[in-house]
Amino acid sequence: MGDAVGYRRAWRTLAASLGVAVVVGASAWASLAVIGPDSRVAVIWPGNGLLLALVLRAPLARAPAYLLAGLLGTLAADLLRGDSGGMALALAGCDSVEVLVAASLLHPRGSGVAGLASGAGLVRFAVAAVGVAPLLGAAFAAEVLSGFAGFDEGRVLRSWFAADALGTAFATPLVLGLAGSELRTLFARTRWPWTLALIVAFLACAVPIFAQSRLALSALAFLPMVALVEALGFAGAMLSVVLLTPVALGFTLAGRGPLAFGAAPGLAVVSVQLYLLASLVMAYALGAIAAARSGAIAALAERERSLARSEARFRLLAENADDGMLRCRPDGVCHAVSPAMAGLLGLAAEQAVGRTILDLVRPADRAALEQALGEARGGSLPAPLTLSCTRADGDAVWVEARICPLTDPLTGVVEEIVLRARDISARKAEEARQMAANAALEALAATDALTGLGNRRQFDALLQREWRRAARDGSALGLLMIDVDFFKRYNDRYGHPQGDACLRAVAEAIGAAFRRPGDMAARYGGEEFAVLLAGSEIGAAALAAERLRGVLAGLSLPHEGNPRGIVTVSIGVADAWPGQGAPEELLAAADNALYEAKRQGRNRVVRARPARRSPGPLRSRVAAA
Ligand code: GH3
Ligand code: MG
Ligand code: MG
Repeated sequence: MGDAVGYRRAWRTLAASLGVAVVVGASAWASLAVIGPDSRVAVIWPGNGLLLALVLRAPLARAPAYLLAGLLGTLAADLLRGDSGGMALALAGCDSVEVLVAASLLHPRGSGVAGLASGAGLVRFAVAAVGVAPLLGAAFAAEVLSGFAGFDEGRVLRSWFAADALGTAFATPLVLGLAGSELRTLFARTRWPWTLALIVAFLACAVPIFAQSRLALSALAFLPMVALVEALGFAGAMLSVVLLTPVALGFTLAGRGPLAFGAAPGLAVVSVQLYLLASLVMAYALGAIAAARSGAIAALAERERSLARSEARFRLLAENADDGMLRCRPDGVCHAVSPAMAGLLGLAAEQAVGRTILDLVRPADRAALEQALGEARGGSLPAPLTLSCTRADGDAVWVEARICPLTDPLTGVVEEIVLRARDISARKAEEARQMAANAALEALAATDALTGLGNRRQFDALLQREWRRAARDGSALGLLMIDVDFFKRYNDRYGHPQGDACLRAVAEAIGAAFRRPGDMAARYGGEEFAVLLAGSEIGAAALAAERLRGVLAGLSLPHEGNPRGIVTVSIGVADAWPGQGAPEELLAAADNALYEAKRQGRNRVVRARPARRSPGPLRSRVAAA
C-alpha cells in the first residue's frame, strides 16, 4: 500500500521532470537560434527563468528533480546545436548554478504572481533572479568559455548576463502569472473577445513603430503598454511584455526599426536588450501600481460590504427587539425608527423620520432630553431617562429611554445617536395609583372622621411647620382653643348621636369662619377645637375668636343644660411673637386662656396677655380679654 503510493509519486515526479526537461531544452534550442552577431551567446535566454518559475511553483521535494531535468534539457539543446560534450556540459552547468542560486534566494516566499505584484516581492525578484543569479552564471560562463579558443572573457560576461537577466525577467513572472488565475481570467468565456481586441490594438500600435526605420519612436510603444495595464492590471503588464518582446527583437535583429537604425554595427543587440529591459521594468512597475490600486479598491469594497452587513444585522436586531429603537443624527433628527418604536409612538415609522426627537416628548421633558443628547454628542453615556411621549392619538406614553452615542471607531467622532425606549406606562400607572392611594390614606389619617376637619395629629404637625416658617419669615402666629360649654350635659340630655350632630354643626361653623389661606381648623379632641392663624397680625386672633363666638351663638342650637339655653363656646386665644418661644408654649398659653374663660363663667373669649418683647413663658401672663 505504502509502496504503491511511493511508486505513483515517483512516476509523477519523473513524468513532470521529463516535461520540464523538454520545455527548458526547447526554449534553450530556440534561444540559440537568436545569437548576437558579435558573440556566440544568445540575445535572450528565457530558459533559466522558465525553470526558476517551475521550481518555485513545485513542492520543495521535487525541486532537485526539476533542476536536474533542466540541466539535461539544456545539455541536450547545446549538443544539438553542435557544441562539444565538455563545453555543453560546462555551459548547462552554469545555467543550473544560476537557477539554483535564484531559487534558493526566492523559494520560501515570493513565489506566485501575487508575490511579484507587490513592491517588495518585485525588488526581491529583481535583485535575486535578475541581478545576482545571472551575474554569477555569467562569471562562471566567462571562466569556462575563456578556456576555449575564440572567446573574449569580458564580452561573454556582458552578453551572457544581459541575455539571462532579460530572459528571466521575461519568463518567470510570465509563467507564474500563467499558472495563477489572473491571466486565465483574461481568456475566460466572457472576457476573451475584449482581451483579444486589446492585444490586436497593442500590436497595431507596436508593429508600425518597429517596422519603420526613419523615426526613433521606440518609446511610443510604452503608451499602448500603459493602456493595457490600465485595462487588465498586472496581467496586462505581462501580456504587453510578451507582445512587445518578439516585435522589438524580430525587427531589430532583422536590421529594421528604430533600435537597429543608427546603432553602431554590433550594438543593435545591446540596444534591443536594454530596450526590452526598460520595457520590463516599466511594465512591472505599472503592473505593481495597478495591483496595489485594485487591492486597495478591493479592501475598500470589503469594508463597505462589512459595513452593510453590520448595518443589516443592526436593523434586524432593532426590528425584532421588544424595546423601541430609534436612530438619529447628533442633532437629534431621526433617520430610522424600529417597528416597536413606531408602535410605541402610535405612528408609522416614516412619520417619525425627519423629525427631531425633542418633538416626540412632552414639553416638560424636553430640557432633560436635550441635556442627555448633549452628553451623547460629547461621546458620553447619559443616565437613563423617564420621558413622557405624546402619541399620535394624543395619549401619553411613559418610556424609560437609554441614549447611546455611536462613534466612528477610527476617528472617535460621534456619527449618530441611538435611543432605546421601553414602555413603562403600566408601571407608571401603577405608581400613580399607589401614590393616589397613599395620599388618600394620608388624608384619611389626617382627617377627623366625625367632622371632616383636620385631626389633632395633623394640627400638631402643622403647628410645628408653621412655627418654623413664621420664625423664618418673621411673621406672627395666632392660636384659638375652642371648647363647647356643658357638653357632657348635652349628651346626657339629647343622647350621644345628637351630641355628634351638634359637634358637626359647630365644626362646620368653625370651618366656614376660617377660610383664609393661612387658616387651619382642627378637631383637637372630644368637644374641643383648635384654629391656627398663620401670618396674622398680633391681636387678630382675639378678634376672630369674638366673631366666631358670635357666629356660634347666632346658630341658636338649643341646649337645655346650658344656663343660656343654647350651645355656647369658650375660647382661649394666644399670639406668638415672631421668632420667640416654642410652639408648645403657644399651645399651653391658649389652653390656659381657655381654662380661664371657663373659670370666668364660660361663653367668652380670654386672650393670653400679649408678651412684651421680652421672651418668657406665656402661660404666666394670662389676662381677661
Ligand atoms: P365644660 O363646660 O367645663 O367644658 O363642661 P363639659 O361637660 O363640656 O366638659 P367635660 O370635659 O366634663 O365633658 C366633655 C364631654 O364631651 C364628655 C364626652 O361625653 C363628650 N364628648 C366627647 N367626645 C364626644 C363625641 O365625639 N361625641 C359626643 N356626642 N360626645 C362627646
Ligand atoms: Mg366642654
Ligand atoms: Mg372639654
